[in-house]
Amino acid sequence: MAKDKDKSIKDIEDLPGIGSATAEKLREAGIDTVEKVATSSPHDISDLTGISVEAAKKAVDAAKQATTIEYETGEEAYEKRKSLGRITTGSKGFDELLGGGVETNGITEVYGRFASGKTQIGFQLSVNVQLPQEKGGLEGAVLFIDTEGTFRPERISAMAKAVGLDPNKVLQNIFAVRASTTEQQILTIERADKLIVEKNIKLIVVDSLMALFRSEFVGRGALGERQQKLNQHLHKLQSMADKYNLAVYVTNQVMDNPAILFGDPTTPVGGNIIAHAATTRLYIRKGKEDKRIVRLVDSPNMPEGECVIKITPEGIRD
Ligand code: ATP
Ligand code: MG
Repeated sequence: MAKDKDKSIKDIEDLPGIGSATAEKLREAGIDTVEKVATSSPHDISDLTGISVEAAKKAVDAAKQATTIEYETGEEAYEKRKSLGRITTGSKGFDELLGGGVETNGITEVYGRFASGKTQIGFQLSVNVQLPQEKGGLEGAVLFIDTEGTFRPERISAMAKAVGLDPNKVLQNIFAVRASTTEQQILTIERADKLIVEKNIKLIVVDSLMALFRSEFVGRGALGERQQKLNQHLHKLQSMADKYNLAVYVTNQVMDNPAILFGDPTTPVGGNIIAHAATTRLYIRKGKEDKRIVRLVDSPNMPEGECVIKITPEGIRD
């Protein structure tokens, strides 16, 4: 039997431990309803507002109590999953690692050092999403947000030719935006609805997700604000992915984590907010010559694993 929900909790201020200043910070981060608090992690709320994790947990628990839950049967969830689209990466091994390619309705994040191949994968997906379904595409267009000035039409053209597509048509279906501030980066997504519907956008690329956030929000004092904006941006990306059944591919930079004494100290930047927002996380590193090792770090339905891909003049291959 469903519990009667607590009628006294309507706004996020009504939650225990959430005063007006904390509520304001949550709203800025896009967490503006009791439902959204209920589905947030206490760690994220603590990071975003500066209240303790324990206090955040109390607020989240109260929000859960106050929220009516909409149940979805396993069968309904299964039906929904069958309608998910997948985009081939160009490599069989990579596709298998992902359970059949890059999935729609979610955010796929690739992090790694410079020249590891993050942008190349973004180009390849921008081409492949345009392929017919039987060849691993979705016959869709692309919104490509370039924050680093590394968008290269000539490279995309070469990849398009290699899969038998008309390079001019492929480029016409890629709507590239050069963002040089986080404001532009965020607004491009906030205002993308019309473009997505009119042009049948099936892939959004953000290359890179964090570069502008890192350069604009410097120092400890700015960290809270940075994480709030980032959280809002990621929520918006996820809601676009759900609403339009499209794939979101984001690249991310890394830093050395001195806390890791053994093994690879490489850690993606952006903290917990991205870790929780990304549906699928991949780590890419250089191998010998044109080889790259891709590691599946986090996935809701696939085991951890690795594969080797090559970056060839034709694009991503086995
Ligand atoms: P950054 O963090 O600097 O943005 P990245 O991970 O995005 O790096 P990419 O730009 O995707 O790195 O990869 C660059 C690498 O891709 C080059 O060093 C090269 O090895 C390979 N590459 C780029 N163009 C070609 C090409 N035409 N033919 C073969 N390999 C290429
Ligand atoms: Mg790059």
